[in-house]
Amino acid sequence: MRGRSLSGWRCVRGHAFLHAHERCAECGAELTPTRVGAAARLVACTTVRVTPSGEPFRLGVAVTREGARTLCRVEGRVRGSGCDKVVLVELNGRYLALGAGVRVNGSWAARASDGDSQKS
Ligand SMILES: [Zn+2]
Repeated sequence: MRGRSLSGWRCVRGHAFLHAHERCAECGAELTPTRVGAAARLVACTTVRVTPSGEPFRLGVAVTREGARTLCRVEGRVRGSGCDKVVLVELNGRYLALGAGVRVNGSWAARASDGDSQKS
């Protein structure tokens, strides 16, 4: 999964977003479409226990290396300490954060994240 990226937005000052805005939420500049790396840090994580299906799930906030932030469901092993390395996957406009022990396309998500030294 090295080099894996997601559709995103970026302003001239480098503020990055995964979700479309009219203008940059940080500086007000115009945004242009870009690619954002899928490697991210899970800065917050909680378990939602009251759900329509009755099945609990984990919800978190992840920040990519470029600084793009998103709410996401969390799968796999994470410590919830604010520094878990995860890989973001986009599914129908929603984001999934994959921690350790999750296989995607034959690769281990956390291993790919740890070994991905590319910065774009
Ligand atoms: Zn900006």
